[in-house]
Amino acid sequence: MDINKTIDYPYLPEGKKILFVPPENVWMNEAKKMADANSACSWWPTGAVVVKNNEIIGRGANSGNFQPLCPRVEHNCPTGEGYHFCNALCSQDGHSEVTSIMYAIKNGNDPTGADLYLFGHWWCCKNCWDAIIKNGIANVYLLENAHLFFVREKRLALMDEVKNKIQQGKSVSREEIIWIIE
Ligand SMILES: [Zn+2]
Ligand SMILES: [Zn+2]
Repeated sequence: MDINKTIDYPYLPEGKKILFVPPENVWMNEAKKMADANSACSWWPTGAVVVKNNEIIGRGANSGNFQPLCPRVEHNCPTGEGYHFCNALCSQDGHSEVTSIMYAIKNGNDPTGADLYLFGHWWCCKNCWDAIIKNGIANVYLLENAHLFFVREKRLALMDEVKNKIQQGKSVSREEIIWIIE
């Protein structure tokens, strides 16, 4: 059975499909490291690497100045919407897919034929797919069962904890907002 047909993706370009790797995959692990260390948006931290000829040529995350509460959460934005509330961090041009591809290009590496590994999400938005296709990325890999791991309910529960801490005048660190995969 084609797993891509069983998941209701908000966007998937005609003729494109998403491939999957297990958590122990070395490139997925690198993407996770990017998300854990560099994501600045507490709502939905993501990281990505672009791999060509068995080598990482691009790295990215939705990075910036760490923000313990994403304004998109305050506005109850559905997945893929409300990016204007978080222009600095989780806006579409700052998505890990785009930033990792741009990193490769900026460093003189041609992403044509490379693979992209994204950690922290279960689908790619249209803006990202456009960049993926335009730059000739061969395959997009997500974590196996990404649609079960990277879910809204988990983040909403975490955001409640974050809000509580902030209300109590406590600080929230980047380490506290990473995805726990188990
Ligand atoms: Zn955000
Ligand atoms: Zn995107």
